[in-house]
Amino acid sequence: MLQKTAQCALEYGRQFIPQGAVADYIPELGKADPNQLGLCLFTKDGQKIMCGDVDQRFTIQSICKVISLATALQCEGFDKVFAKVMMEPSGDAFNSILKLDLASNRPYNPMINAGAIEVVSMLTPRFTFEQLLEYARILCMDDDIVLDEAVYHSEKATGDRNRAIAYLLKSKGVLEGDELKTVDLYFRMCSLSVNARSLAGLGLTIANGGVDPNNGVRLLDERVVRVVKTLMLTCGMYDGSGEFAVRVGIPAKSGVGGGIMGCVENRMGIGTYGPALDEKGNSIGGRQMLEYLSRELHLHIFDSLNA
Ligand code: GLN
Repeated sequence: MLQKTAQCALEYGRQFIPQGAVADYIPELGKADPNQLGLCLFTKDGQKIMCGDVDQRFTIQSICKVISLATALQCEGFDKVFAKVMMEPSGDAFNSILKLDLASNRPYNPMINAGAIEVVSMLTPRFTFEQLLEYARILCMDDDIVLDEAVYHSEKATGDRNRAIAYLLKSKGVLEGDELKTVDLYFRMCSLSVNARSLAGLGLTIANGGVDPNNGVRLLDERVVRVVKTLMLTCGMYDGSGEFAVRVGIPAKSGVGGGIMGCVENRMGIGTYGPALDEKGNSIGGRQMLEYLSRELHLHIFDSLNA
């Protein structure tokens, strides 16, 4: 039943691919095949539903912001993190520098680049990339995640805008430590190679309140997960977050590599892959598959049948 609905969602989402385009501002990302589409659902009761290109590896990109935020909240605590970054939707593009310069010293939220770079600056003195990689593998239930060297070098070579954001944060006195080390760690985190299954695993861990349902081990505190899910709902799809919340109503996070990770409270994690993006940088096929699933399975957070 779930398999059939997922298959229909895949066919539905496929129709929208021609309206999108692969990101190429990071040159290596431009090599992705825009026609690929994959959907994976991991339910709390152990079902694993997979359709389409679920094995294709791609880079996690902005979805790593969820992992860095959760890690920072876990080790620094709520007050320290939110002394440095706000919790408001920005309404601007993910890489915008505008409000950071004009309206506030603190980045608007941890899901846009400025906020994520600030959050990563809190992790830089405490963790090596290898430690964060290991943590990502555990949260995503995927031991095969590695650094995609080609994408990492490609972003590092062209990432002037993110370096500009880091320097601006530094000039405002919000970013402490070595800004280039921080941006380097941010680029590495964005270049983790995942697939739709890894994102479904991460979504399930979060949907399940931070406990791995396979073995009952608590990976994240409940209060950390609550904050992360709220910010995914309000800011996870950048300046498309409002419309996505109305139409889909699933806390989700997208990345320009083509992934979307969604979590349906207490029920399932969803991972989608489709590198053709809409004008806001969200996977167009992924977004439409999620809308289809939400409608068919009553997954909207405010759906009265969602019990
Ligand atoms: N690494 C990308 C960047 O910083 C992440 C952006 C995204 O996925 N939206 O531009």
